[in-house]
Amino acid sequence: MAARPPPPNLVVNLFSHYGLLKKIKINENKKMRLSFFFILFLMTNTALCLTVVLDPGHGGFDRGAAYGSAQESKIVLMLGQKVKEYLEQEKLKVMLTRSKDEFVSLKKRVQLSKKYEGDLFVSLHANASSDQRAYGLEFFLTPNKRSASFASPNSTKAVANTSANIDTSTDDAIELSKTKDVSKILKDIKLNIQSKKSLKLSRTLQNDLPGNIKQAPFYVLTQTQMPSVLIEVGFLSHPKDNKKLMNEEYRNDLALKIADSIKRYTRANYPAANLLDENTPTPR
Ligand SMILES: [Zn+2]
Repeated sequence: MAARPPPPNLVVNLFSHYGLLKKIKINENKKMRLSFFFILFLMTNTALCLTVVLDPGHGGFDRGAAYGSAQESKIVLMLGQKVKEYLEQEKLKVMLTRSKDEFVSLKKRVQLSKKYEGDLFVSLHANASSDQRAYGLEFFLTPNKRSASFASPNSTKAVANTSANIDTSTDDAIELSKTKDVSKILKDIKLNIQSKKSLKLSRTLQNDLPGNIKQAPFYVLTQTQMPSVLIEVGFLSHPKDNKKLMNEEYRNDLALKIADSIKRYTRANYPAANLLDENTPTPR
């Protein structure tokens, strides 16, 4: 009977953006010196540098919602710049789809997210409603393709019983795709992982910032190839929200909470990411 190989005394897990990529077992039989340099190489080279794409909505002639002196395009730009500042202190790479008061088309925003090779896409908007009682934050996800609530392609802001309608079963996606070719199956899996991660990100945000998670086929959500969420940071049509969003101190606090949520989400979902220690507070 052949002798069993000695158990590995070290297991190295290699992670890609989408999870565990490879388990490398290193045992005593291998040259220790080689292993040492290999591990050193892994430690210095596999730490991911994550890129967060922040997308302040509107800009230029497109002012978005405007109530009194409050303008959505200006508020979300100031907010986005602050979130960027906080995230950069966390060793995250942050790219803005616009960094000044200029018009950037939705198509261009999606193209930029690809060009920047973003790992996460966070779009920032402020809401408005004819119902003056509407207030607070909302987190939007792209609708599940199989959700009946979004069957109409003309639906622009349909809102469903959100998180419950998101099917997060990867097995299910594979089962439904048996007749499709391999590339379509892979695309389905990728979309499914994207949906799961988008939902996780929204839930992490919801922990710090109470608000409802909803679904809507916003262009920047349906077209981006990475986990994405659109945050409506408040209703400019509501007097209290309007006043808060016009206040710099409130906006900075909101930006800090958004940054902290993104930081927590990335730490939990990208274990190989090169982030600051969990207990390091975000400097203000
Ligand atoms: Zn908007």
